[in-house]
Amino acid sequence: MENFQLKEKLNIPSILNLQKEELIKLIVKSGEKPYRAEQLWRSIYKECNLDFSEITTLSKDFRSKLEKQFRISTLEKKIHLDSSDSSTTKLLFRLDDGELIESVLMRYNSDYGKKGRKTACISTQAGCALGCTFCATGQQGFRRNLSSGEIIEQVLQLQKIAIQEDLSELEEGKRKKGEIQGITNIVYMGMGEPLANYNNTILSLRSIIDNTGINIGSRHITISTVGLVPQIKKLADEKLQINLAISLHASDNKTRSETMPVNKRFPIEELLDICHYYVEKTNRRIFFEYVLLKNQNDSLEKAEKLGKLLNGLHCHVNLIPVNPTSNGGYLRTDDQENRLFQGVLKRFGIPSTIRVEKGIDINAGCGQLRERTLSTN
Ligand code: SAH
Ligand code: SF4
Repeated sequence: MENFQLKEKLNIPSILNLQKEELIKLIVKSGEKPYRAEQLWRSIYKECNLDFSEITTLSKDFRSKLEKQFRISTLEKKIHLDSSDSSTTKLLFRLDDGELIESVLMRYNSDYGKKGRKTACISTQAGCALGCTFCATGQQGFRRNLSSGEIIEQVLQLQKIAIQEDLSELEEGKRKKGEIQGITNIVYMGMGEPLANYNNTILSLRSIIDNTGINIGSRHITISTVGLVPQIKKLADEKLQINLAISLHASDNKTRSETMPVNKRFPIEELLDICHYYVEKTNRRIFFEYVLLKNQNDSLEKAEKLGKLLNGLHCHVNLIPVNPTSNGGYLRTDDQENRLFQGVLKRFGIPSTIRVEKGIDINAGCGQLRERTLSTN
């Protein structure tokens, strides 16, 4: 009997898959006033209520009507890990069909008296089809795309944690009333390739930026892509003000193809062409991610090539020490060499940052979700 009920429940769709306008239409069609839909939207997206029973501002009748048609939450939290320095929280979720995904919350202290940033790193696919050799997710293969609701719920689950923390700090007198900010930035840098799940990624984005709900501005959101050229073109034409990060990781085709099979489909020249197009269309600079892999892509000669390649493009390079626990057996380049590599880019006038890993102690075995926040503020 219990099994039967569970199965029944799994067939009920999540309301998080609806865009705001769709939700309003549906609620009005069911005979409720439009402001009820607004109330419902706010209580889910602003107050992070993930179960209808928590939404006590709505009548019992209305709630039970909703419950018959929808669920809010479909993610089951299996693991919650906090790093020893409390800067990073990693959650592992089980999806309806048993697939597992990870989401991460990263906290940054600000030196300037302002409250620090909180960045949510979210997944867009279970697994990934692109098979980059240094990436743990890529080595697992592709399982499936996430729905927009599954992408959004990761943000809401992390937001719940972030707001709770802000409230505790408020009680302790460490914050002023207006300083309940929750998550400030979002990076689509978890498991999977966001642009291979284009529609659901964009749908999730639209709900996240809605200013009556989660309300995180486009400029504080970053999508990271392995470099799918047609989708980058499509994204450029949407003229969203989000940040785009390209996983470049090499400055010549031979080196790139060795670790990123996608390079055979979309070689560096094509990728760079579309990056120029993106910058022209959106007027936004592009972020390039460059994971430093010892003896693979970290020589000064390769840095020179990178400098030449990116010369004249409005961009910023993030140099990322490879996660040593990942598959593929790559080693980290040491700090001194990282700085020399960075020095070469500087000579070409290309701004770059060497990323310091966060929550490394809870990334073990993950090889994927880590500090990868770009200088997006
Ligand atoms: N599929 C997208 C987004 C998810 S991966 C992409 O590839 O951009 C997010 C970032 O993590 C990418 O830049 C990816 O190259 C990087 N990454 C993957 N494995 C890594 C590892 N072992 N160490 C450091 N960065 C890694
Ligand atoms: Fe997929 Fe990105 Fe990992 Fe490559 S780095 S396998 S594209 S998730």
